[in-house]
Amino acid sequence: AKSAGGNRFEIADPEADARAITRHGLTNALPAALERGEFFIEYQPLVHLGDGSVHGAEALVRWCHPQHGVLGPDRFIPLAERTGLIVPLGRWVLQEAVRQARFWSRRHTDGGPLRINVNLSPAQLQHPGLVADTVDVLERSGLEPGALCLEVTESALIGADEERLGPLRQLAEMGVDIALDDFGTGYSNLANLRRLPVSVLKLDRSFTQGMQRHPADPVDLKIVEGIVSLAHSLELAVTVEGVETAAQAEQLREIGCDTAQGWYYARPGAPDRIHTLVLADAV
Ligand code: C2E
Ligand code: CA
Ligand code: CA
Ligand code: CA
Repeated sequence: AKSAGGNRFEIADPEADARAITRHGLTNALPAALERGEFFIEYQPLVHLGDGSVHGAEALVRWCHPQHGVLGPDRFIPLAERTGLIVPLGRWVLQEAVRQARFWSRRHTDGGPLRINVNLSPAQLQHPGLVADTVDVLERSGLEPGALCLEVTESALIGADEERLGPLRQLAEMGVDIALDDFGTGYSNLANLRRLPVSVLKLDRSFTQGMQRHPADPVDLKIVEGIVSLAHSLELAVTVEGVETAAQAEQLREIGCDTAQGWYYARPGAPDRIHTLVLADAV
């Protein structure tokens, strides 16, 4: 009887009601939005901490809603996840991002191809077409598998058995990188990392935020140092998210993180931005 209390509250709260209607409306509008091409992708660069050169970019989806304007993924990905629309939407993001990466790689022949990171949601992981779809997208674009990195959250892999990990393992064997996204926010045992087919750890933004203070919290620094040394001993590369200041970048570089992403370098933006940044590098 206690558990029904939360619902009673919501019904009595007109604002919550409006939110629910919006959620309902957004959910219903998703399939047509995909058909009408209302989704678009922004790209945020990943840079090498060593020399600041561009390593690649993460694809981040947005919805240009005819009434509500541009909506961030936090507004609609959970809805798409619940209805299963995330599978065709995720496939579209993959196809579009890989096409874009292939386009970049045609224009920048030196220094190897720019890498493209694409987020995978738990429902996509469970979808039986994942491997075939990914192979298909790569083959049709001509992008080499080694230039693609699929980001999977720690929570999606917690407790995953071999059956669940199989498709990721297959992709990893083809040369696709698998990154453990939002690392440090879940409860996964560090020793568990060894049995996962991942090659990259993406340290969650919460760690970088802890380093914002001057001087940075020594305990946070020690934790990041510990994670980086463990990751490196397991031959995993470490990417840090949410780098907003030069001081953070310097500290993370000293600790030995490999790549970084954050507003300090660039906010997510149109694909041309990435092109411009790479060209600026080359000068
Ligand atoms: P994420 O994968 O952890 O992506 C990083 C988020 O941090 C992005 O938010 C990015 O804009 C934001 N960010 C980057 N640098 C900074 C910084 O320096 N400071 C701060 N405060 N934030 C920064 P965004 O674009 O709103 O995406 C939110 C989440 O939505 C993503 O988190 C990801 O989980 C999900 N998402 C985005 N695109 C897709 C997609 O195509 N498929 C799926 N399944 N999920 C997606
Ligand atoms: Ca991500
Ligand atoms: Ca993340
Ligand atoms: Ca996140």
